[in-house]
Formats: sequence, structure tokens, C-alpha cells
Amino acid sequence: MKRETIAIHAGYDGDPATKAVAVPIYQTIAFEFDSAEHGAALFNLEVAGNIYTRIGNPTNTVLEKRVAALEGGVDALSVSSGMAAIHYSLVNIAEMGHNIVSLPQLYGATYTLLAHILPKQGITGRFAKTEHPEDVEELIDENTRAVFCETIGNPAGNVPDLEGLARVAHKHGVPLIVDNTIATPILLRPIEYGADVVVHSMTKFMGGHGTTLGGMIVDSGKFPWRDYPEKFYMLNRPEIAYHGVVYVEHYGDAAYVARCRTVSQRNTGSTLSPFNGFLLLQGIETLVLRIERHIANARKVAEFLRDHPAVEWVNYAGFPDSPLYEMAQRYMGSSRCSLLTFGVKGGFEAGTKCFNSLRLFKRMVNLGDAKSLACHPASTTHRQLTPEEQKKVGVTPEMIRLSVGIEHIDDILEDLAQALEKAAA
Ligand SMILES: *Cc1c(COP(=O)(O)O)cnc(C)c1O
Repeated sequence: MKRETIAIHAGYDGDPATKAVAVPIYQTIAFEFDSAEHGAALFNLEVAGNIYTRIGNPTNTVLEKRVAALEGGVDALSVSSGMAAIHYSLVNIAEMGHNIVSLPQLYGATYTLLAHILPKQGITGRFAKTEHPEDVEELIDENTRAVFCETIGNPAGNVPDLEGLARVAHKHGVPLIVDNTIATPILLRPIEYGADVVVHSMTKFMGGHGTTLGGMIVDSGKFPWRDYPEKFYMLNRPEIAYHGVVYVEHYGDAAYVARCRTVSQRNTGSTLSPFNGFLLLQGIETLVLRIERHIANARKVAEFLRDHPAVEWVNYAGFPDSPLYEMAQRYMGSSRCSLLTFGVKGGFEAGTKCFNSLRLFKRMVNLGDAKSLACHPASTTHRQLTPEEQKKVGVTPEMIRLSVGIEHIDDILEDLAQALEKAAA
């Protein structure tokens, strides 16, 4: 099936109990066993079935199968937020003494997790000098357990060389784990370029309406865990935290995600609520349509800003003279994401004036909503940094970041025009 069809049908073939056409919300904690023997068989993993919502729920199972199908993975685990997905994806294979090698451009909380939180538990985050595969390779050693990156960096909008990163990771026997939140599988399917695990904040474009936190871990089923029995002992030796199961034997290709579910999720409990699973399913049904409108609107906004006399610069990967163009073209064809940044002439003062004058655009730090959103990093997310530090992470005083929504383009452009006029006055 094509992605438009997968987004609407994958993972659900009608409810066997009621024949409900929409996916029911199974708002229940536990599921009844037919007998002591049936319960024992479920716990021994001899038969498939539901036990307790913390480790699996039928509403969420549909969502997991749907996202796995969109990404081309073998299975997936839904969790309560994007950050829970990123955390589990790393601690599933990294323990004390290990390290994760990451690209430098990261979502803020992911950077903090790798730079300040995991190190206190003995797992070190190592940040490459640049996004180039050779700078990543330089940091990999025998204690590295994964290479991590985002398929579209934020706020820069850079697409890294995924094939090059997969090549250096695989050469050293470690998986490439990628955060595909901003691209979504509609713009980019990282598994096709060698990614082994794909994580998502479902909170953004996937849900698409700014209502629901959620996360997802998709297992490509392609990483050869069995070839590294010492390095990835968690997947190759009997697991004391789960009935002595040997994941690569019992779960085959889906060993990695099965361990995320039965060790991390079961014992630390960042479970997605079935109601949120239901809302995310509603969002995904229109994902392709929404992304098409997002990217068409963003292109028009970028062109409008480029030609506007009050605008100093526009950073948009769709312009052939942009340094972001070549990689975006290679991995996303003619499509581009709907995030872009621009600078108003007149520095911080003009930047804030433009930002404060927006009427349709909501002033906030989220992205990927049906609504158009704007963020002024220098006065909010990056306020604590000195001007020098801001410059280092690519934030300038006048910079405004837009997440272009799916409203009518005339209304979006009119709002920007009146805000720019006020900034210039
Ligand atoms: C928002 C975001 C996250 C975190 O997701 P939550 O669902 O808010 O926990 C992680 N990565 C990227 C790229 C994001 O944009």
C-alpha cells in the first residue's frame, strides 16, 4: 500500500469483538485470562495477547503498527512523549561505561539528556564537531553503543548525510538511531538510508493538532545484534528482568523494540494513554494531506519573505543558493519541511516588534501544529545565553522561527505583511 492508504488503514482490520470501524479506545488497565494456564502462557510469551496496559494496549497497538508501516520498520513501541522515546531508545542498549556519539544540532531536551542527565548514570554523550560523518567516526570507540542524530535539525533545518552516518556506525558495529520528528515519514524514510531505529515525538506533525503528547520507537529489524553478542549482551543473553528471555531468539528481528517494551516500559512506565493513542490515530489519518499543505504554504512564505524589503535574510532549504539545499534535495526530493527562520532588518528591536505584531501566528515554542506558530529564540528559548553563545548555536537577536500552518496562504501572508510593516516603521 501507498503511504496515504497506510496512514488510514495499517494495523487495523475492524474490531473482532464489536466490528467497530473506527479504532476503539480500550480504556482499561488489565485484560482477563481464560484460565491460570492461559495467564501462564501469556507471561511465558508462549501465546500473544494483552496483559496490562503499561506493557501493551490494543488501541496503542494499532498506532504502533501504523507508524511502523509508515516508516518501513518491523514493529514499534508507543510511549508517553518524544523524550521518553529517545531515553528508552538509548538505555535499551547502553549501560554504565558506554557512550553515545551524537551530532551537535539537537532538540534542547535531547541535548540536556545526553550532556547532563545520562552522564550521571555513567552513559556519556559525545558531540561531534560538525555533522560530517568523519567527525562522527572520530569519536566512536569500543564503548560506543549508538550514533544519534535528527533527520532535520532544529532550528537550522539541516539534513545530515544519513547514508554516510549509517556507514560509519555500521563499520564500527553500532546502530544509527535517528529522531524523525520534524521530517515525518512523509518527507523522509530514514530506514531506507540505513537508520536502524527511528524515534518520534508524535506530539508535533504526527498528531498535528497541538493537543496530544506522545512518542514512538520504530525498530527497522535490520541491525545484526546477533553478530555482537558481547557488545549487545542485553539482547543476546538471558534477561533477568524478564523471565530469562533471550531477545534475539524469542523476538527475532524485533528483538530491540521488544526489550524496550518489556524492560524499560514495563519497569519505568512511560506508557501512552489509550485516549492519547486514539487522538494520535485521528491525526495520522490526515498526515499526508496536512504535510502537503504545510510544505506548499512554507514555500510561499519563504518566497514572500525573501522578496520583502524589511527582511534581512531567510533560511529555507528550498532555495538553490541555500547551504541546506543539496542534502535536502538528496534525501527529500523537491519537498521541504515547513519550519524556516528569517531575520528582520534592524536587529533585536525590529525582531521583537515584528514578533509582537503577529496576529494569526501564535507566539509559542511548539511546532508542527495545524496552526501557524512563531518563536523568537533570543527572547525566549535562548534568552539565558550570552550573545556569543547564541551565535554559536545559530541564534541571532533578530531571528524569528516559523512553523507554517495549514491555514489559507492569503491570511498567513497578510499577517506577516502587517507585522513586517510595523517592524519597519
Ligand atoms: C518536541 C521534540 C522532541 C520532544 O518531544 P516531546 O513529545 O515534547 O517529549 C524531541 N525531538 C524533537 C526533534 C522535537 O521537536
